Amino acid sequence: MSSYSLKSVIKNQALLEDVGSFINGKWIKETTAGTFKVNDPSDSADSSLIDIPNLAASQVDYAIDIGHKEFYNYKATTNTYRSSQLMKLYSKIMENKEDLAKLIVLENGKSMADASGEIAYGASYFKYYAEYMMTQGATDIMIQPTNPNNRIFTKKAPVGLVGIITPWNFPFAMITRKLSVALAVGCTAIIKPDAQTPLSAIALTKLIEQCGYAPGVVNLLVASNDYTPEFGLKLCESPKIKKLTFTGSTRVGKILMQQSSNTLKKLSFELGGNAPFIVCENVKNMEYVVDHAIASKFRGLGQTCVCANIFYIHEKVLPEFIKVLKPKIEAFKIGHGLDENITHGSLINQNAVKKVKEHVEDAVSKGAEVVIPGGSLPALGQNFYAPTVLSNVSLDSKVCNEETFGPLMAIVSYNDVNSVIDKVNTNSVGLASYVFNDDINELFHISERLETGMVSCNTGLFSDVNLPFGGVKESGFGREGSVFGLDDFTVIKSMILGLQPIKN
Ligand code: NAP
Repeated sequence: MSSYSLKSVIKNQALLEDVGSFINGKWIKETTAGTFKVNDPSDSADSSLIDIPNLAASQVDYAIDIGHKEFYNYKATTNTYRSSQLMKLYSKIMENKEDLAKLIVLENGKSMADASGEIAYGASYFKYYAEYMMTQGATDIMIQPTNPNNRIFTKKAPVGLVGIITPWNFPFAMITRKLSVALAVGCTAIIKPDAQTPLSAIALTKLIEQCGYAPGVVNLLVASNDYTPEFGLKLCESPKIKKLTFTGSTRVGKILMQQSSNTLKKLSFELGGNAPFIVCENVKNMEYVVDHAIASKFRGLGQTCVCANIFYIHEKVLPEFIKVLKPKIEAFKIGHGLDENITHGSLINQNAVKKVKEHVEDAVSKGAEVVIPGGSLPALGQNFYAPTVLSNVSLDSKVCNEETFGPLMAIVSYNDVNSVIDKVNTNSVGLASYVFNDDINELFHISERLETGMVSCNTGLFSDVNLPFGGVKESGFGREGSVFGLDDFTVIKSMILGLQPIKN
C-alpha cells in the first residue's frame, strides 16, 4: 500500500469511480483480461494505489469502429458548439485542479508544484483552441483560379478518427496537447495513456463525460504494458484511424511509423531529445543563468524531453557558475510530492534510477570530476535519487550522446562556441536547445545555427500553449500548440466550381 491512499487524498471521489476503459460513452469494468496495479513511485515496497481492469484486446477493435462511426456526426457540429464544449471542459478541469494534480503526484512521483504546473499548462490547450475556434476558426477561403469561369473553395477539414499514445512523464498534458486540437477541429479520438500513469487520464475522461459529448467522441483504452504492443499495432494498422499522434521515445516512434506504413495515415511524433544548455562568456547575471539552468534541468527531476542534458559552460565563467549552483542544488528538499515543502519528488521506476547511475559511472570512469555526488536515497524510497553534478565531462561519455532523462547535470567546459555548435549538430536528435548570451547579435547567430526545433534564448522555461512545440531530425515531426498545431489534425479539402455563362 502507498502511504497515501486515493480515498484520503482525492476530494472528488467521482473522478475515480468505476475506473476502467471508456468506449462508446460507457465505462468498461470487466476483468476477464485480468487487472493491473498502478503504483506510487515515491513509495517503497508494495506501493499499489489501485487495481484497474485490463481492456481485452478485442475491445480495441470495437473502440476503433465506434470512434470512426461517430466521426461522421461529430465533424458536422459547429465551431461554436465545439468551442463551448472545450470551454466547459476547461472550467471543469480548473474546478478539479487540485485533485488532478494530486493524482499526477501519486502516479508519477513529481512534486505538487510540478504537477500543478502541468494541470495549468495542460488545461490551457482547451482554452486556447476554444477561443481560437470562436475567433479565427473559420478556415474556409475562396480562391480565383486561372480559368475565370471557375471558383475554388478551400477548407481545413478534420482528418478523421485520431489515435493518441502518450508517455508517463506528463500523463495529463501530453494528452490534452493533442486531444484539444482534435476536438476543436472535429476529430474523434482514442487515447492510450501509459500503463504506469493512467489515473489522471481516467479523471480527465470522467470530466469529458460530464461535458455531455456524444458517445464515441472520446474513447480511452487502459491496460497493463503487456498489452501495449498489441494495442499499438491495432491503432497503427487500422485504416479507420486516419492519424496517429505519439509522444514518447524515438525507439517506439520508429516502430509505430513502420507499423503505420500500410495505411499511409497522417503521423505526428514528439520524440526524445538531448538538449544542450550553452552559457557564453559574456553573461553577467550568473544568479539568473543558474536559476534557469536549474529550472531547465531539474523540472520533474530531469524527466522531461526538453530538460537540458549537457551544460556547455565557457571556461571563463565556469568557476562562478559552479559557485552559484552548488548551494542552490544542496537546498533542494526531496521527498514524496504530497509532503509539505517538497521541491523535488522521485523518479518513475527502477529503470530510470539505473540509467542515471549508469551515466554517472560511465562519465566518472572517463575522467569527470564530481561537483555534487548525489545518488540514491534508499531511506526515502527505492526510486529517489539526489541530483549529481559532474564537471569536465568527456564528450565521448554516454550522457553527451544519449538522453539521461534523470537528475544528472553534466558540465563540459569550452572556449570556442563554434565547436559546441558543431558537436550539438552531430546529434541524431534535435528537440530543444538553450543559449545564454548577453549580446543579442551573437545570440541570434548561435540560435540560427543550432539544429533543434526550439531554441530557448536566455530562458530555461519556454513551454507555452502559444509555442509550436516540436523537434527536428529523430526528435520527430509535427507541431503541437499555437495556430500551427491545427495543421496536423486537418486536411485541406477543395471544391472546384465551374460557373456556366448566364444566357440573356
Ligand atoms: P516510450 O517507451 O516510448 O513510451 C511512451 C508510450 O508509448 C507509452 O504509452 C508506452 O506504453 C507506449 N508504447 C511503448 N511501446 C509501444 C508499442 N510497441 N506500441 C505502441 N505504444 C507503445 O517512452 P518513455 O520512455 O516511457 O517516455 C520517455 C520518452 O518520451 C523520452 O524519450 C522523452 O524524451 C519522450 N518525450 C518526448 C516529449 C516531446 O514532446 N518530444 C514529451 C515527453 C516525453 P506503456 O508504457 O503503457 O507500455
